[in-house]
Amino acid sequence: MNDQIEELACAIIGSGPAGYTAAVYAARADLHPVIYTGMEPGGQLTTTTEVDNFPGYPSGVQGPVLMEDLRSQAERFGTDVRLAAVTAVTLSKARGGWHKLVVDGGAEVRARSLIISTGASAKYLGLASEKRLLGSGVSACATCDGFFFKGQRVAVVGGGDSAVEEATYLAKLCRVVYLLIRKDHFRASKAMQHRAENTKNLKVLFHTELREVLGERLVTGIEVFHNQTRELRRIELEGVFLAIGHKPNTAIFEGQLAMDQLGYLVTDPDSTRTARPGVFAAGDVKDKVYRQAITAAGSGCMAALDAEKYMASVADSMRVA
Ligand code: NDP
Repeated sequence: MNDQIEELACAIIGSGPAGYTAAVYAARADLHPVIYTGMEPGGQLTTTTEVDNFPGYPSGVQGPVLMEDLRSQAERFGTDVRLAAVTAVTLSKARGGWHKLVVDGGAEVRARSLIISTGASAKYLGLASEKRLLGSGVSACATCDGFFFKGQRVAVVGGGDSAVEEATYLAKLCRVVYLLIRKDHFRASKAMQHRAENTKNLKVLFHTELREVLGERLVTGIEVFHNQTRELRRIELEGVFLAIGHKPNTAIFEGQLAMDQLGYLVTDPDSTRTARPGVFAAGDVKDKVYRQAITAAGSGCMAALDAEKYMASVADSMRVA
């Protein structure tokens, strides 16, 4: 053991369902995992309300409660949960080599095996006015910020399941919710579409694009463009919620790990292995298709099993050498 630098058998970056499930399995395999939670401990599910589709909860469960349960379960087997972010990595190309992690921009630690479960983050449109008013009426999380818009008027941008979920949640709090969909149809599932259609104070505006968020210090309205009639019009309201999908959190791995065009990590088929020995990827950071809590948890389990196998084979080759 180096005097200054902590050496770990298994480090896990990211604390969503993938990270915590990987931790449960890695801890039970005596890999003594350390999990770095990142800036959003518990991941995206901590910004959700009811989760109805995670097996084992017949009456549903609140997202934050589910994540607390997963964390406790990981800790029960000895996982070291650290409220810190890994801000840079240098991944070894050698089998059995040390992967170097910089934690919170300072301390360096080394890990023999590394599980990446950094997930994905909300996307924004890229409007200057959206950025300027972020936190002053613009948000990407209805369950975090909806409370501040009680009795007010808001818009949600997007036509997928997230957008409908956010819009129907907000409809319970707000006077009126406009759902802005750029196409003539939803991307959301039929069940979610029915939910939107059955919500009285939710007004769905198809063919509608958000062009500008209006307001100086606080949001006072939006300018929208109808892409069929080419008409620009203003709607007075107090809040704007973006729900247009997510981008994977892979910036710190650029140049070291293979990514697809959208920035998702690429792993071997039917495996969580990346091209670097001892580095595995699990959950939304490598999955743009399923993106469910349960599929993320499943792939976290796979990553830990892959890491366990890797560590055993490295130990074997060291014994032989
Ligand atoms: P999706 O990628 O499914 O949907 C994104 C939506 O945003 C689409 O309607 C898309 O429009 C729109 N959009 C994207 N970019 C822009 C833009 N620049 N301007 C305007 N609109 C834009 O993302 P979600 O986050 O909704 O869902 C991700 C995954 O998570 C899905 O698999 C979903 O099923 C799942 N999910 C499941 C839930 C549940 O089961 N309870 C809840 C939430 C999510 P277009 O269609 O035109 O591309």
